[in-house]
Order: sequence, then C-alpha cells, then structure tokens
Amino acid sequence: MTVDAVRWIASLLSRLPGSPFAGRKPALVIGRWGGGLVLFLLAVTLPVPAQVSSAANAGRLHVTHYDIRADLYPETHMLAAKVRVDFTPAVDLTSASFNLDSALKVKKVTDASGRAVTAQQDGLLLNLSFPASLAVGRPASITVEYGGALASEQGSPVEGLKLAYIGPEGSYLLYPSDWFPVYGDGLERFSASVTVSVPSGETVIASGRASAPVHDGDRLVYAFQYNRNSFPGTVIAGRYEIQPAVAAGADITLYLKPGHAGLAGSYGETAGKIVAFFSDKFGPLPESHLALVEIDNGTVGGYSAPGVVALASRGFSNPVNYQLLAHEISHQWWRCLVSPATLDDAFLDEGLATYAAAMYVEEAAGEGAFEDTMHEVEVDALTHEDVAPIAQADRLHPFTPEYESIVYKKGAMVFHMLRWVIGDGAFTQTLRNLAQQYAWKSVSTRQFEELAEQAGKQDLRYFFAQWVDSTGVPQFKRTWAVYRTQTGYQVVGKITQDLDIFRMPVDVRVYTEGRRPVDERVDMVGTTADFTINTVTRPQRVVIDPGSQILKYDDQTKIAVEMARGDQLVQQQAYLQAIEQYRKVLELNKNSSLAHYRIGEQFFRLHNYNAAMEEFRAALAGDLQPKWVEVWGHLMLGEIFDATGQRDRALNEYQRALQTNDDTQGALELANKYIQKPYTAG
Ligand SMILES: [Zn+2]
Repeated sequence: MTVDAVRWIASLLSRLPGSPFAGRKPALVIGRWGGGLVLFLLAVTLPVPAQVSSAANAGRLHVTHYDIRADLYPETHMLAAKVRVDFTPAVDLTSASFNLDSALKVKKVTDASGRAVTAQQDGLLLNLSFPASLAVGRPASITVEYGGALASEQGSPVEGLKLAYIGPEGSYLLYPSDWFPVYGDGLERFSASVTVSVPSGETVIASGRASAPVHDGDRLVYAFQYNRNSFPGTVIAGRYEIQPAVAAGADITLYLKPGHAGLAGSYGETAGKIVAFFSDKFGPLPESHLALVEIDNGTVGGYSAPGVVALASRGFSNPVNYQLLAHEISHQWWRCLVSPATLDDAFLDEGLATYAAAMYVEEAAGEGAFEDTMHEVEVDALTHEDVAPIAQADRLHPFTPEYESIVYKKGAMVFHMLRWVIGDGAFTQTLRNLAQQYAWKSVSTRQFEELAEQAGKQDLRYFFAQWVDSTGVPQFKRTWAVYRTQTGYQVVGKITQDLDIFRMPVDVRVYTEGRRPVDERVDMVGTTADFTINTVTRPQRVVIDPGSQILKYDDQTKIAVEMARGDQLVQQQAYLQAIEQYRKVLELNKNSSLAHYRIGEQFFRLHNYNAAMEEFRAALAGDLQPKWVEVWGHLMLGEIFDATGQRDRALNEYQRALQTNDDTQGALELANKYIQKPYTAG
C-alpha cells in the first residue's frame, strides 16, 4: 500500500461528519464533487483486498468451513477467539500461511488430533508448520486461539483503514479485516458457524440462520449457522433499534443506531424496492432475509456480507442515498452469490455493483439521471484508464484512485457498453445466467465472456480484448459531405480514430431540417469506417456516438477528466500538485471559472491570499460555469479581505454574494454570518 493510498483513505475519512475538514468549508466540496463526489465517496466500499499471502500461497489449500467462537468486550475493546479452520490440502503440506489482523496475538494452534502446530506471526501473516505432512486431498483442520484489542486501524490489512473495531459505541468485525485467520481473501468461498458473546443489551448480527440468544451470566450468547459457500464471517454488535421493513414482499430487518430510528421507514421501503428491482433483473435474492445495519463512521461507507448489508452512519440520510444502498445490496448477487475467480477478475464484483447501482438510478430517477450518473462514471474511468487494463487489477492496490478508476468505473463502463452491443434483453439474460449457473461459485472473466456470447448470439472476443484485456480509448473524428438524390439527400462520410486494433459498432446520427434525426449503426474495424445515410430533408449536423455508449475522449470529456484528476489530488491533500493539474484545464479552456476557483481554493488553504485573490477574480471573470462559482467567488473574496484586516471590502463582497440569491451549499447563510461577525482564518 502506497503513501498516496493512505492519504486517499485519510481523505475519505476526513469527510465524515464531525471531522474538522468536512464541516469547515462546503465550497471545498461543491460542484462536481457536490452531488457526484459525495455519492462516489460514500459508494467507496470494500473491494476484494489484495493480500500479501494470497499471491505467495494461492491454491495450496482450499478452506471449506470455519467454526468461530468469539467473545467481545466492548469496554476494553478486547476480542478473545477460538477458531477451527477446516480445509483440504491441494498439495502435500508441511506449512501454510493465513492472514490475521496483526493487532491480534495467537496463543495456541493445534491440529485435528490436538497436537501443537508451530505458529509464528509476521505482520499480517500467520505462518504455520504442521507436526506431520498433510496429505493432498485429505480433509484437515487446525484450531487457533488468539485475542487482542481492536481499538484502532493498527493491524488492519488495509493500512490506515479501520475494518474491525470493538467498542461500547458499537462493534464491527468485517470479513476483509482478517479478524479471523483467512486464506485467499475474497476468493476462497466457505461456510461458517459463528458463536459470539456480548454484554447483555447488545444485539449481534451475522450471516446465516440465528438461534435464540442464550443468557450466560451478565452476557448474551448468539449463534449463527451459514451452510452455503460464500463469504460469511462478518460480525456486527451493538445497541440497536430493530425494525422490520414495511415494504411488501421483502423480508428486511433494519438495525439502526438510536438517533437514526426515524429513517427506518424510508430506508426499509427503498431497500425493498431495490431488492424487487434486482430480483427481477438478476433472479431471486440469494438470501431469504436481509439485515440492513448501521455501523460507525470510522470505516468504509458500506460492506455487504451474505444476508447482511452494513452502511456507515453517514450513508443514512434524508433523502435516502439510494445509489449507495443499491450498490451494497447488489453485492448480495455480485460477490456473495457469484464472486471473482482471481483478483484480476475483480471488476465482476465492484464494476458490476457500480453498474447495478446505476441501473437502479435509471429505474428510480429516469433516463436523465442515469445519463448523468454514467457521465460521471465515464469521467472517473478516464482519470487513470491508461495505468493498467481491467484484467490486470491484481497489480493495483485497492483504495487507490487508480483502483477506483479502473475496477469500479471502467468496469462499470464495460457492462454499460456490453448492454448496448448485445442489447437490453441479452444483457439481462447474461446476468440471470451468471447468477444461476455460477450460484455459490466463483467465475472468471472468460467464463463471463462465454455467457455474454451465448445470450448475445455473437462472438465477443474483440469486445473483451479491447475493453478488459487492453488499455486505450478512442477519440472519434468525422468528415462528411451531402449529395442531392431523387428522393432527398445522402450523407456520405467517414469516422476515424487512432487505435489500430479497435473494433466496435458505432452509432452515427444525422440531424435534419424539420424532421426527427436519422440514426445508423456502423461497424468500425480499425482506424476508419465509412457511412452513407439517406435523409428526406436537408442534413444539418452529424454526431458520432450520440447516446454516449462508448468510453471515449472528446473535448468536453477531456476537460472534465483533467478537473477530476485535480480533485483527486485535493482528496489526497497534494495541494500544490492539484494546482498544477488544474492549470492543465486552463490550457484547454482558459476561461474555466471552475479551474480558477479550485486553484484559488488551494492557495487560500495554503494562506497565499494574493494568489488566491487573483484566481477568485479570474473565476468571477470567466465562463461562470457552474453558476455557484459566482456566489462562492464573492464569499471567498470576502473571507480573504477579512483574513487580511480589510473589513469594508469584505462586507462589500458578502453583499455581492447575497445579491446572487444563490444558496448553493448554504452560501447565503454563510454570507449573513460573516456580515454579523468577520471571518477568521482557522
Ligand atoms: Zn462495492
């Protein structure tokens, strides 16, 4: 994990409500980052973690079942656990390595006959040497006794990110935290029996069939049995308001923190609608019951375990953040039911979940909202598209902007393009077949490709070679001429782009005088394609890929991508690099108010008030896109004047802010506040 990744994570967490960074200056997060980004960050959910040991020992054994017994002591953050791992050696084994959160210390490891197994912890690795060789194919087991404090992100497999926590305000032990000895993170599917004791008054949530809790002195013991092969092993505990969802046809229970009980109705109803929509598209919900659970803000935005969807408190809002909720619920199919065969296949998990959430946006908010969502996905996909092909995701670190861009966003674009190439019906059929034929199993990209070929009744090797195995996106140019014919007009033209081995169907649209536009699909192979389109009335304009079906560069997208790269650098708190990056936007559009505004923000943050002022003035003199730049430009100028002791000039700017009557992100309220009491640099 790189330093940048850690900064990125720090920045995700810095957006939590209550953090000094998030609340201070809404201007810092508005614009593209206002609607889109907040959703995007909240949607940053757990990918399959890339682990040290998975590469080193992959495939040496297959884990089949866990028997987990855990005692949680919230007051002291302590965990005491005894875990039996059942597995089958894939080769003759004298040793094996598991992953274990390094904050947890192993006391004792024994084999099936009770003999001591030599255990040594090396960071996240738990290295075991068996007293005798374990024969290939013969079921074996080990029992590990261990414990320790889970109070912070120390020991987490994702540096700087807390994935397991035990405390009085609520505990969460997410599977990717490696809070129990894990082999082949995110890849090896298993069943589990989980028994957890907590102080009386706490509720425990985990995957599988729950027995009635049993009292043991002042403690309560919960037991869960999960019999399918998936990724159980996530445990959540705390004091909850428990409410069934009212939605018809869905068996959903909500576990909310006391302050959020009022959101049970809207979240239950929306979760019910999402389950109904996905069930219709993908096949029935894999689990008969779904628990929707609130966890603390100190971790990822969301995580999905079989039958359990956990969202951080910041994911519970009014109105409902349905894109985030849909993303997590879709993981019930795309991870819990069917999971990637290798880390290189990770887009079948996170890319498909990202696209499934967009499909729900289309269902809930219509075509326009869907197009906006996919445009944001496209821009984010292009920010790091050239770093690695989707099929080499294992090279990337989860939780980096590169991983987000390639696995989540370009991955989602692949499903979007596939749907267009093979058609809605064949696309839905592909996903249904995926859920049915690979239920409770893993799937490789090649196997998925075969399903798409069967449903689409066509060879799709070119498609997967282009978009999954390779990097590179086209930028289309076109030339055309118009000829009169006996019945009207003929448009004869040519599309060109630079990728030599490119092949895709491409839509061409001709806008004509007084009539509906005429569309034609052209099969493009290589760098050029010719088209001839007949129209009745005079042609006015020719547009390539009018529906934005293909991941591509055009002039507008280029500017948006350069902006998004700058925004990511701000997220990583690399402010000087961000300024350089935003200047690239100005090279493409020197009147970009947004780029000037963002540069001004970074200078302001660095207390370089002269430079900041120049940029905010340039923002106000630019194209004023988006509109909020005006109100916030004046506000920022006012703050600079206040910060430099020029109260009259500050008041003048606040008045001009008020005159815009634009209350984006509470701008007017802030202007009034500073008219009462000067801004002071904090
Ligand atoms: Zn996800």
